[in-house]
Amino acid sequence: MDLLDTLTAKGLRGEVPTREEALAVLATTDDELLDVVAAAGKVRRRWFGRRVKLNYLVNLKSGLCPEDCSYCSQRLGSKAEILKYTWLKPEQAADAARAGVAGGAKRVCLVASGRGPTDRDIDRVTDTMAAIKDADPEVEICVCLGLLSDNQAERLKAAGADAYNHNLNTSESTYGDIATTHTYADRVDTVQKAHGAGLSACSGLIAGMGESDEDLVDVVFALRELGSDSVPVNFLIPFEGTPLAQEWNLTPQRCLRILAMVRFVNPDTEVRIAGGREVHLRSMQPLGLHVANSIFLGDYLTSEGQAGQADLDMIKDAGFEVEGAGEATLPRHRADIAAASGCGSTASGAASGCGSAASACGSGGGCGPCGGHGHAEPAGAAVANEAAAESADGLRSDLVKVRRRGAGTELAPNA
Ligand code: SF4
Repeated sequence: MDLLDTLTAKGLRGEVPTREEALAVLATTDDELLDVVAAAGKVRRRWFGRRVKLNYLVNLKSGLCPEDCSYCSQRLGSKAEILKYTWLKPEQAADAARAGVAGGAKRVCLVASGRGPTDRDIDRVTDTMAAIKDADPEVEICVCLGLLSDNQAERLKAAGADAYNHNLNTSESTYGDIATTHTYADRVDTVQKAHGAGLSACSGLIAGMGESDEDLVDVVFALRELGSDSVPVNFLIPFEGTPLAQEWNLTPQRCLRILAMVRFVNPDTEVRIAGGREVHLRSMQPLGLHVANSIFLGDYLTSEGQAGQADLDMIKDAGFEVEGAGEATLPRHRADIAAASGCGSTASGAASGCGSAASACGSGGGCGPCGGHGHAEPAGAAVANEAAAESADGLRSDLVKVRRRGAGTELAPNA
């Protein structure tokens, strides 16, 4: 297939494809899917080998958000039966983070719901980062607190943050359809503030919200132009009790095509499978590892993922290896670009990198992998029973489980 030969050659050289080529990836057929994955896999292995970076989410403050992001279970007016709690104490957050690091995570992502942090919130997160780094000085910390005001990124950088996550989520032209309390330009401004302060920029997207192929390509090219070091790809978790609860329109094949398109446009950037991995890729998750080089370990912000051990087993069984604390994530040339732009991120973890998702993180304007709705079956068991679970209206509420363990609960974290 000429298209895949062209994309592979460009990716191996670190070149970005044309917009038309990116759209063509999304238009490939199921018969071509394994060829698409194989081509994207060559590019992935060129820049990231067989390493998989593990990231661990700690939800510092859950629910009760005044923003109206339609995909989010923590939004204003959400009826999703998620955990709701205010700021964790630094030692509580550090305990949760420690579990993730012990499970193999190289990066901890500290997320709080809300439009953006107050200066007092920056103090709280500063104390939390100190508690985490006291226990493990090597761990990378990414912070996700929503829209940043002047000097807040600099304060986070000075306090030891390596990265800041704020997702663009969708294209500029459709942003007003998914949130009205802030704008696409607000989000771009925060990513630029973080980058300008020397934090590694982690910014990604959410697929499955009813967007067009053009919207997906637009946001992925925008992320490349913004210089995001890490691109979390979230697949919408349609929470009951949110406006997008009916949006079950992703298939595993569609998710793999989207991941491949993101990889071709970001050949040498960390591409992370974020929220919705278990819900939408299901038994195809291992194929996703051939394209992406990063995932979240364990649970998301408000929903549960598969068991942390299942993540580790999947990585090993698929022939990949967990990236170690001393290993560089980004290729050297990409790290140099980040450093030259004032970012510090990179390659060795010495200075940065982050990510989160529509259902993974969660904050103002940029949250990520949140989570699920109120049903009870563990995600893994739900996946096993999926053939029997689709309801008459096509909804798959059996695939989503609200997080009831880890941060903010008395139960041990999943890691
Ligand atoms: S994505 Fe973030 S800002 Fe938007 S509603 Fe959810 S927690 Fe609030």
